[in-house]
Amino acid sequence: MFLKRLEVIGFKSFADRIGIDFVPGVTAVVGPNGSGKSNVTDAIRWVLGEQSAKSLRGSKMEDVIFAGSDSRKPLNFAEVTLVLDNEDEQVAMPFTEISVTRRVYRSGDSEYLLNNQQCRLKDITDLFMDSGLGKEAFSIISQGRVDEILNSRPDDRRTIFEEAAGVLKYKIRKKKAEHK
Ligand code: ATP
Ligand code: MG
Repeated sequence: MFLKRLEVIGFKSFADRIGIDFVPGVTAVVGPNGSGKSNVTDAIRWVLGEQSAKSLRGSKMEDVIFAGSDSRKPLNFAEVTLVLDNEDEQVAMPFTEISVTRRVYRSGDSEYLLNNQQCRLKDITDLFMDSGLGKEAFSIISQGRVDEILNSRPDDRRTIFEEAAGVLKYKIRKKKAEHK
């Protein structure tokens, strides 16, 4: 499984519809300070279900909607679509390509779509839980997170490695079973 394409409209600094095609190999996003590089990763985390406005560097979810500029009016909604290549069927769905869309309106209404069909956030989180992708997974390491990992206590650091290795969910299940 790999990221194939990202489509963004009205999300943060991206007022116009933009599409980024990821080709095999390494992709680097470069640009001056404030040009929107981190907004690209924010868009990926957001479409995968990020619920914390703070971790998206805002104070409320509406802050992800394009707020306008000197020459442009604010927009009423933000939409992000992430297209994944699933040729290897790593995500348990009988599709070679999976698209996930999230949309939010200033009114507060929001929706999620899986291959263009409306779904719940839970359907998306469940789908990606064991795939290594997801808002909590270590597929996305934000600015400052590396320092945080290096400076954390050995116990906390161990938890991070257990989570990355996929062991943590078994430990949590074991603990739950022992308490029954
Ligand atoms: P750096 O190199 O400093 O890390 P960057 O390229 O990662 O910068 P971002 O943090 O992605 O930059 O982009 C910040 C820009 O996004 C700012 O100019 C900010 O005004 C703009 N921005 C954030 N939210 C919105 C919004 N809702 N509407 C319009 N612009 C926004
Ligand atoms: Mg940045």
